[in-house]
Amino acid sequence: MSQLHIPTRQSDQHTKLKISQILGPTVQGEGSAAGRHCLFVRLWGCHLECTWCDTAYTWAVTAAKAAKTRSGQRYERNEPAYGEKELEPSEILSRLLALWDVENRPTIIVISGGEPMMQQRALLPLLEQLRSWGNEIHIETAGTIAPLAEFDALVTQFNVSPKLAHSGNQLTKRNKPKALTALRDTGKAWFKFVVTQNYTTDLAEVDQIVEAVALPQQRVMVMPEGSDARSNTATAQKVVDAALERGYGLSFRTHVLLWGDDPDR
Ligand code: SF4
Repeated sequence: MSQLHIPTRQSDQHTKLKISQILGPTVQGEGSAAGRHCLFVRLWGCHLECTWCDTAYTWAVTAAKAAKTRSGQRYERNEPAYGEKELEPSEILSRLLALWDVENRPTIIVISGGEPMMQQRALLPLLEQLRSWGNEIHIETAGTIAPLAEFDALVTQFNVSPKLAHSGNQLTKRNKPKALTALRDTGKAWFKFVVTQNYTTDLAEVDQIVEAVALPQQRVMVMPEGSDARSNTATAQKVVDAALERGYGLSFRTHVLLWGDDPDR
């Protein structure tokens, strides 16, 4: 491995990131890049509390937070595999390089969470190095935090998943039109809404957000909730025609179809 070169300002270079998992190679499971080869850096921590969150191990570490989730399961913050780990950018690069030669065989690095937009500044050195090697950077976000200009400059694509009422979050916490507008204005954002079997209500809420924030409808996708292939497909079959009428696309959860709810794929 060549010596790591991280040209971001000196003070940022050793800022540690809160990490849950680094995994891959795998396929991007969701959204407009579904099926593409990628590696995942899953950050620890989220300021929302979605009842159906499939990565609750990144935040549900108190009894109060666990009670917000459907399963009610409380996770250990220092659990070795999925709990919080504080790593410097160079340590994360080393772990990525152990999984795939991201220096010479660039791919997509999906920065997921948790909510990665909570750690934008700390991410800068890592993203700068990965981009200098030709990798794409895709950010998974709930769309409640606007991107910093220097962060936006390093991002290839934002996969924005605004949360609807069925997520269980209060409207004031989950609905941030200014942040959504800023993400829309990057010109690099795709918008992905989780819909349930109660899709008529969900689509009405999606329509409201799309109209209020003037989201480009051709960059909007709906994605059935579900952590098993059968429920994912059943909801997709129900919602697909109504989505297409509106000009929205449909995203499956490819990783769920392939591997169920395995958190390591
Ligand atoms: S925003 Fe994402 S990570 Fe956070 S609770 Fe909701 S689904 Fe989970």
